[in-house]
Amino acid sequence: MSDLGELYQQVILDHNRNPRNFKRIESANRKAEGNNPLCGDRIQLYVLLEGDTITDIGFQMPQGSGCAISKASASLMTDAVKGKTAADAETMVQLFRDMLSGGTNAPGKLAVFSGVRAFPSRIKCANLAWHALHAALQNSAEPVTTESARDF
Ligand code: ZN
Repeated sequence: MSDLGELYQQVILDHNRNPRNFKRIESANRKAEGNNPLCGDRIQLYVLLEGDTITDIGFQMPQGSGCAISKASASLMTDAVKGKTAADAETMVQLFRDMLSGGTNAPGKLAVFSGVRAFPSRIKCANLAWHALHAALQNSAEPVTTESARDF
Protein backbone atom coordinates (compact mmCIF):
# COMPACT_ATOMS: atom_id res chain seq x y z
CA MET A 1 0.00 0.00 0.00
CA SER A 2 1.22 3.50 -0.81
CA ASP A 3 1.99 6.05 1.90
CA LEU A 4 -0.98 8.06 0.73
CA GLY A 5 -3.22 5.02 1.05
CA GLU A 6 -1.97 4.47 4.56
CA LEU A 7 -2.59 8.08 5.49
CA TYR A 8 -6.11 7.85 4.11
CA GLN A 9 -6.74 4.70 6.08
CA GLN A 10 -5.51 6.36 9.27
CA VAL A 11 -7.91 9.28 8.83
CA ILE A 12 -10.83 6.88 8.31
CA LEU A 13 -9.88 4.77 11.35
CA ASP A 14 -9.48 7.88 13.48
CA HIS A 15 -12.90 9.26 12.53
CA ASN A 16 -14.47 5.85 13.05
CA ARG A 17 -13.01 5.49 16.54
CA ASN A 18 -13.60 9.09 17.51
CA PRO A 19 -16.43 10.47 15.35
CA ARG A 20 -16.85 14.25 15.30
CA ASN A 21 -20.28 15.79 15.90
CA PHE A 22 -21.60 12.45 17.14
CA LYS A 23 -24.59 13.93 18.93
CA ARG A 24 -28.29 14.45 18.80
CA ILE A 25 -29.30 18.11 18.41
CA GLU A 26 -32.57 18.80 20.21
CA SER A 27 -33.05 22.18 18.53
CA ALA A 28 -32.40 20.82 15.01
CA ASN A 29 -34.89 22.16 12.47
CA ARG A 30 -33.89 19.73 9.73
CA LYS A 31 -33.59 15.99 10.20
CA ALA A 32 -33.08 13.00 7.98
CA GLU A 33 -32.82 9.27 8.37
CA GLY A 34 -30.63 7.19 6.14
CA ASN A 35 -30.50 3.48 5.57
CA ASN A 36 -28.04 1.32 3.67
CA PRO A 37 -29.58 -2.17 3.84
CA LEU A 38 -26.71 -3.63 1.83
CA CYS A 39 -24.34 -3.14 4.77
CA GLY A 40 -26.75 -2.45 7.66
CA ASP A 41 -25.69 1.18 8.11
CA ARG A 42 -28.28 3.48 9.67
CA ILE A 43 -27.91 7.17 10.35
CA GLN A 44 -29.94 9.89 12.02
CA LEU A 45 -28.85 13.33 10.93
CA TYR A 46 -29.64 16.57 12.77
CA VAL A 47 -29.14 19.95 11.18
CA LEU A 48 -29.67 23.39 12.65
CA LEU A 49 -30.18 25.71 9.71
CA GLU A 50 -30.27 29.39 10.66
CA GLY A 51 -31.05 31.61 7.72
CA ASP A 52 -29.05 29.94 5.00
CA THR A 53 -26.23 28.74 7.25
CA ILE A 54 -25.68 25.34 8.83
CA THR A 55 -24.83 26.54 12.33
CA ASP A 56 -24.83 23.09 13.88
CA ILE A 57 -24.94 19.52 12.63
CA GLY A 58 -24.75 16.16 14.34
CA PHE A 59 -25.43 12.52 13.65
CA GLN A 60 -26.12 9.31 15.47
CA MET A 61 -25.94 5.70 14.46
CA PRO A 62 -27.78 3.12 16.54
CA GLN A 63 -25.36 0.81 18.34
CA GLY A 64 -23.66 -1.50 15.89
CA SER A 65 -25.38 -0.12 12.81
CA GLY A 66 -22.62 1.86 11.19
CA CYS A 67 -19.53 0.37 9.57
CA ALA A 68 -16.18 2.19 9.73
CA ILE A 69 -16.61 3.75 6.29
CA SER A 70 -20.13 5.06 6.89
CA LYS A 71 -19.27 6.44 10.32
CA ALA A 72 -16.03 8.09 9.22
CA SER A 73 -17.77 9.56 6.20
CA ALA A 74 -20.55 11.03 8.37
CA SER A 75 -17.94 12.42 10.78
CA LEU A 76 -15.92 14.09 8.03
CA MET A 77 -19.10 15.31 6.30
CA THR A 78 -20.37 17.08 9.43
CA ASP A 79 -16.95 18.69 9.95
CA ALA A 80 -16.84 19.81 6.32
CA VAL A 81 -20.26 21.46 6.12
CA LYS A 82 -20.56 23.02 9.58
CA GLY A 83 -20.66 26.81 9.17
CA LYS A 84 -21.25 26.53 5.43
CA THR A 85 -24.32 27.76 3.56
CA ALA A 86 -26.88 25.20 2.40
CA ALA A 87 -25.89 25.94 -1.21
CA ASP A 88 -22.19 25.31 -0.50
CA ALA A 89 -23.11 22.08 1.30
CA GLU A 90 -25.14 20.90 -1.70
CA THR A 91 -22.15 21.63 -3.93
CA MET A 92 -20.03 19.43 -1.65
CA VAL A 93 -22.63 16.64 -1.83
CA GLN A 94 -22.26 16.77 -5.61
CA LEU A 95 -18.44 16.88 -5.49
CA PHE A 96 -18.37 13.90 -3.15
CA ARG A 97 -20.71 11.84 -5.36
CA ASP A 98 -18.72 12.77 -8.44
CA MET A 99 -15.50 11.65 -6.74
CA LEU A 100 -16.99 8.27 -5.84
CA SER A 101 -18.26 7.74 -9.36
CA GLY A 102 -14.79 8.32 -10.77
CA GLY A 103 -14.53 12.10 -10.98
CA THR A 104 -11.84 14.30 -9.49
CA ASN A 105 -11.13 14.14 -5.79
CA ALA A 106 -13.24 16.19 -3.40
CA PRO A 107 -11.33 18.91 -1.53
CA GLY A 108 -9.35 18.49 1.69
CA LYS A 109 -9.75 15.47 3.92
CA LEU A 110 -12.77 14.30 1.93
CA ALA A 111 -10.29 12.98 -0.62
CA VAL A 112 -9.53 10.11 1.77
CA PHE A 113 -12.68 8.44 0.41
CA SER A 114 -11.35 8.35 -3.14
CA GLY A 115 -9.90 4.94 -2.23
CA VAL A 116 -13.44 3.60 -1.74
CA ARG A 117 -13.89 3.69 -5.52
CA ALA A 118 -11.89 0.46 -5.65
CA PHE A 119 -14.57 -1.23 -3.51
CA PRO A 120 -17.94 -0.74 -5.24
CA SER A 121 -19.88 -2.39 -2.41
CA ARG A 122 -18.58 0.27 0.01
CA ILE A 123 -19.50 3.29 -2.12
CA LYS A 124 -23.02 3.30 -0.64
CA CYS A 125 -21.50 3.28 2.86
CA ALA A 126 -19.45 6.38 2.03
CA ASN A 127 -22.39 8.12 0.34
CA LEU A 128 -25.01 7.47 3.01
CA ALA A 129 -24.38 10.50 5.23
CA TRP A 130 -24.17 12.78 2.19
CA HIS A 131 -27.46 11.49 0.89
CA ALA A 132 -29.01 12.13 4.30
CA LEU A 133 -27.58 15.66 4.28
CA HIS A 134 -29.15 16.31 0.89
CA ALA A 135 -32.52 15.02 2.18
CA ALA A 136 -32.28 17.20 5.30
CA LEU A 137 -31.49 20.32 3.27
CA GLN A 138 -34.37 19.56 0.90
CA ASN A 139 -36.51 19.12 4.02
CA SER A 140 -37.62 15.74 2.78
CA ALA A 141 -39.66 13.79 5.31
CA GLU A 142 -39.05 10.49 3.54
CA PRO A 143 -36.30 8.33 5.04
CA VAL A 144 -33.57 7.85 2.47
CA THR A 145 -32.36 4.45 1.48
CA THR A 146 -29.43 3.65 -0.73
CA GLU A 147 -31.52 0.94 -2.39
CA SER A 148 -34.28 3.12 -3.81
CA ALA A 149 -32.33 6.27 -4.52
CA ARG A 150 -32.02 6.70 -8.24
CA ASP A 151 -28.83 8.70 -8.03
CA PHE A 152 -26.85 6.10 -6.10
ZN1 ZN B 1 -21.30 0.22 5.53
